[in-house]
Amino acid sequence: MTPKKPYKEFSDFLNSIFPFKVQKISVNAGFTCPNRDGTKGVGGCTYCNNQSFSPAYGGPRRSVTEQMDEGVAFFRRKYPQMKYLAYFQSYTNTYDSLEKLIALYEEALRYPDTVGIIVGTRPDCMPNELLNYFAELKKHTFVMIEYGLESTFDPTLQFINRGHTYAQSEEAIHRTAQKGIYTGAHIILGLPGESRELMLSHVDKLSALPLTSLKLHQLQLIRGTVMAKQYEAHPEWFNLFEVDEYIDLCIDFAERLNPDFVIERFVSQSPKELLIAPDWGLKNYEFTAKILKRFAQRETYQGRLYKHCQ
Ligand code: SF4
Repeated sequence: MTPKKPYKEFSDFLNSIFPFKVQKISVNAGFTCPNRDGTKGVGGCTYCNNQSFSPAYGGPRRSVTEQMDEGVAFFRRKYPQMKYLAYFQSYTNTYDSLEKLIALYEEALRYPDTVGIIVGTRPDCMPNELLNYFAELKKHTFVMIEYGLESTFDPTLQFINRGHTYAQSEEAIHRTAQKGIYTGAHIILGLPGESRELMLSHVDKLSALPLTSLKLHQLQLIRGTVMAKQYEAHPEWFNLFEVDEYIDLCIDFAERLNPDFVIERFVSQSPKELLIAPDWGLKNYEFTAKILKRFAQRETYQGRLYKHCQ
């Protein structure tokens, strides 16, 4: 039987947990990245924009509370009953001393009407003591850890200078989920050297993991990155999707995906001034409308071709 919605949306997941409207508020807590300072690697991932690491970028650093104030102000006017999740999104949000990390998470959690945190990080940056802290925290508040995997194929991870392997991603996901913590993963579709078939093979590996949610996004070439230089020198290494081609790939991906996973997003939008390609000129909601229309045309849905093989 075809389900009412063709894929499991993040808003439905939140609605199943909270009896009120919840909104994520992005926080940049000023962390850096171990793939740049030599701890895990140097130079960073090839698609990552160096500029954003400059202290001048984005103006003077504002506190977590100030950022929550600003993010919440917009919604509070429209939805006075709304509650919030602090989303530690930028860079590696578990890369500092335990003491400092906890102080920043707790500053966010003290903010009025904040009902949880979402923490984005690398799979090789989750020490056990921090995971134990999150396991305690989740007993009384919402906690989700989001890992940037980007690929499940080690030669790709090497090529993009990720500084970790897929086995490390699997290990971190298992360790986190075993503590009963909601666990998310992030994948980029269209990385150099990955054929359509190889990209679709990610989904079978991911489906076997104890994940709560998955974010997909298309490869975007960003100014000032190593990848932008590679593109200039070797455009043949890249297959930048046309929007309709990407939509069909996402739907093929969703059809094979574990139907229990939430698909939090299919697409990402970098600031226009930084984006080299592909520039589809679509807002997120326009992309969503297109993908929903295509799901309907294809009469398909998430998990239709999922084979549970355990
Ligand atoms: S993408 Fe993340 S891990 Fe890679 S260099 Fe940028 S901040 Fe570091």
